[in-house]
Amino acid sequence: MSNLMEDVMSLCKRRAFVYPGSEIYGGLANTWDYGPYGSQLKKNILDFWWKTFVQDRDDMMGLDSAILMNPRVWEASGHVSNFSDPLMDCKSCQERVRGDKILEEHLKTTIAGLSNAEIYNKMMEEKIPCPKCKKVNWTEPRSFNLMFKTYQGVIEDTAAQVYLRPETAQGIFVNFKNILDSTRSRLPFGVGQYGKSFRNEITPGNFIFRTREFEQMEIEYFVRPEEAEKYFDQWVEDYKAFFKALNIPEDKLRLRYHERDELSHYSSKTVDFEYEFPFGWGELMGIAHRGSFDLDQHMKFSGEKLQYRDPQSNEVLTPHVVEPALGLTRAFLIVLLSAYEEQTLENGETRTVLHFAPQIAPVQVAVFPLQKQQSEPATQLYRDLKKHFRAEYDESGAIGKRYRRQDEIGTPFCVTYDFDSEADGCVTVRERDSMKQERMKIEELRAYLNERL
Ligand code: ATP
Repeated sequence: MSNLMEDVMSLCKRRAFVYPGSEIYGGLANTWDYGPYGSQLKKNILDFWWKTFVQDRDDMMGLDSAILMNPRVWEASGHVSNFSDPLMDCKSCQERVRGDKILEEHLKTTIAGLSNAEIYNKMMEEKIPCPKCKKVNWTEPRSFNLMFKTYQGVIEDTAAQVYLRPETAQGIFVNFKNILDSTRSRLPFGVGQYGKSFRNEITPGNFIFRTREFEQMEIEYFVRPEEAEKYFDQWVEDYKAFFKALNIPEDKLRLRYHERDELSHYSSKTVDFEYEFPFGWGELMGIAHRGSFDLDQHMKFSGEKLQYRDPQSNEVLTPHVVEPALGLTRAFLIVLLSAYEEQTLENGETRTVLHFAPQIAPVQVAVFPLQKQQSEPATQLYRDLKKHFRAEYDESGAIGKRYRRQDEIGTPFCVTYDFDSEADGCVTVRERDSMKQERMKIEELRAYLNERL
């Protein structure tokens, strides 16, 4: 694994961002737990997404649908028959791979729509070796459905079988009628939903990039068919702005429009936002124009009418949908990778710093007394600030050490209460990125922080 990934993983464990799952029992492969700072950071990214795309907009609303749904949902959506990956085993060393991914890596291009037999023939034709033992000795691919199955109720038979949802999006489509009947939505309008999704991935890995349990933030934006292109392009721009606000460098992101043969049969346009991960470019999110496929399918399978009646013209139509789908845990990873820096200072020391956008930093302001004698007024100041900001108090160790500690968790501002503070009513504010220090009146502090957080 690359150094950056290793460094970030080590910082995550050391500084309470992400721990290996069930660690005291020897772990459970590819599961991760979000620690005190990590859970706050993840929530802050989610809140920022919700505020940007749901709360602040007049054309958007939220939804929180159940993880367990009637299994017919997944028949209608195509997940029961199509949501599978070609699983191949190396007969020499038992390494298990995804045939399509191995082929893509070898050909250095994306492949889509190939049958299992075509994948196998191509692998043999190109003599693609096993990445572990380098032999060309593959089993034929088997389609492996990625949905987790479980049972509802006390009897474990097929009648009680349900799936853990592999995406949050279907909860929006099945509630389309409820939403229309209970709100006064007018096209175009969208519904945003976040939450856990589960996929029994064949090759999870790269830390939290691909896990079997993850979180998504998805939007279904319903439009008149003739306006879909326009809103598709608008969503691409809106997400570019979103990533910019999260301090993701522009040169780490690129757009990859899907080729015609790569598109699902119902999609007329799909673009992936890709990020340059330490292991190469990888998908961060997708924006797809899905036409009326999902509403049509659910109409067919449920027998319910999932259509829109224009209140002025009385025209009845099935809206088209533009779907921006982003993984929250994947967004968390790129926020950390983009924020991480090891700097060598003028005095030769190194400092590790996370350059989080201030509004998502787990701790926004740290308060220190210069010495223990000032701990009482410093604690008072901390209590006041904590009412308005995510604040932390620290009085242990040398001041330089306390700065380093806050740099490592990406705290944008540190405030020090010193010998003179009582007399002059001023404190020193130190900014994380520039390390510049400024003295200011305590009563001006809140306005100063408000402007920057
Ligand atoms: P991939 O090609 O990486 O498997 P996908 O194209 O199947 O992803 P979508 O179904 O479009 O992914 O899901 C939308 C988003 O959900 C992805 O862009 C990604 O951010 C996130 N996501 C999907 N699968 C996982 C996973 N196993 N772990 C973490 N995040 C995921």
